[in-house]
Amino acid sequence: VASTDLEDSGSPTLLTGWGRTAPSRAAVYRPGGAVELAALLANGHPRGALARGLGRCYGDAAQNAGGQVFATDGLAYLREFDSERGQVTVGAGMVLEALVDAIVPHGWFLHVTPGTRQVTVGGAIAADVHGKNHHRDGSFGQHVRSFVLLTPSGERLTLTPEDSPAAFWATAGGMGLTGVIVEARLQLLRVETARIRVHRERAGDLDQLMQRMEAGDRRHRYSVAWIDCLARGSALGRSVLVHGDHATRDDLHVTERAHPLVRSPQVHLRAPPWAPSGLLNRRSIRAFNELYFRRAPRHAEWRLESLDSFFYPLDALRDWNRLYGPRGLMQYQCVVPFGQEDALRALLERISDAQCPSFLAVIKRMGAETGPLSFPMPGWTLAVDMPAGRGALGPLLDGLDQLVAEAGGRIYLAKDSRLRPELLTAMYPRLEEWRRVRRELDPNGRMRSDLARRLSLA
Ligand SMILES: Cc1cc2nc3c(=O)[nH]c(=O)nc-3n(C[C@H](O)[C@H](O)[C@H](O)COP(=O)(O)OP(=O)(O)OC[C@H]3O[C@@H](n4cnc5c(N)ncnc54)[C@H](O)[C@@H]3O)c2cc1C
Repeated sequence: VASTDLEDSGSPTLLTGWGRTAPSRAAVYRPGGAVELAALLANGHPRGALARGLGRCYGDAAQNAGGQVFATDGLAYLREFDSERGQVTVGAGMVLEALVDAIVPHGWFLHVTPGTRQVTVGGAIAADVHGKNHHRDGSFGQHVRSFVLLTPSGERLTLTPEDSPAAFWATAGGMGLTGVIVEARLQLLRVETARIRVHRERAGDLDQLMQRMEAGDRRHRYSVAWIDCLARGSALGRSVLVHGDHATRDDLHVTERAHPLVRSPQVHLRAPPWAPSGLLNRRSIRAFNELYFRRAPRHAEWRLESLDSFFYPLDALRDWNRLYGPRGLMQYQCVVPFGQEDALRALLERISDAQCPSFLAVIKRMGAETGPLSFPMPGWTLAVDMPAGRGALGPLLDGLDQLVAEAGGRIYLAKDSRLRPELLTAMYPRLEEWRRVRRELDPNGRMRSDLARRLSLA
């Protein structure tokens, strides 16, 4: 271990999640590799330690106030790529953007990708993230063949879902609280082109949307609906429904068939470093929502879109979270089981009654459950971005939590910054099972985070 590296790092740094709320200070280390990381972890710290990827969780999951935080950019490597079988071994600090750049030219893509490429493989496993295809392909963890977990006691465990399901699934979805993921082997998805065949159509209300999603999800790999949260009454739930599938070579224009895997570079703009609070207000968002809804075709139409604009439209505007101003933003994401459609309607009614300005609100359908702390369960998930700091927001969201818990649903820990601990057991009924495995992997409770303390998770 290069001791100078260790001495140079560990400087107290203010950290937040993507929402830029609830900042806290921790000693941030940037270990250059797994050996250095193990030495740091062995050192111990009274306030514990935590791994951090790109800090794209919205709330406080990647923070550890007063303790240690290990940035994983020193683990951003591609060790092996088997382009025949579509398997890749990467360091946990590998960013999905770099991974996608490496695999697409060879005809492979990620089985599961979240709505941004600015996420590390370690962060994607720790939050067991989902994409627009959860109803069909499940979560990120379901496509991980194995990963190496460095536990606080210094063990290097290679975990697979077949040989060590309990430890594997306590870590996938375990929000960094079982140790540090160092490396992972992923199974990729074969694709013929770098394009998506996209169907877009309007749905006038919630019933129409749910019906069409249910029917369409059987036929399409990807499915998501953007929803106008300011619409009320008979227009409640009006939305733009998007279905997609990987385009085949035959779907392409003849002139493009010779180079089906070439991606055109995405234009990147950067949000200004400072924006006043209230820039994204009810009026500007109402205008945006109206335009977005009207631009979508009345009846299903399909066209080809680049993989980048279909999966990662928000990545085109770097640092877009700053547009919410100094108070930041929250994302409320919950899931309610199928059969609880009335609860979904009630959630939307409360959000629209509060006229909560949100231009990013989406609904997806989810498939089977996986790890004890993983978010997905068969049901409807709703995710709503909203400016933080409005006085009425707290009571509104507390009320939504209550509704979600009563419906047998849960909220997503990777997005959370404010849930009260009382509801956690109702939302995650396998919490005790997770705690038992976590105690085996980390008997002294060395892995800690602001999220874990706030929710008395561990
Ligand atoms: C614009 C945007 C869109 C998003 N869309 C989606 C979506 O569609 N679906 C979805 O599921 N999520 C989505 N997310 C959330 C995001 O995918 C997750 O929060 C993800 O965990 C962030 O990864 P990260 O590398 O930034 O990790 P961080 O945010 O830094 O950390 C997240 C958690 O992972 C842990 N962790 C990180 N690295 C390691 C490691 N090496 N070992 C152990 N634990 C580790 C941290 O301790 C923390 O608990 C989105 C976020 C944004 C900003």
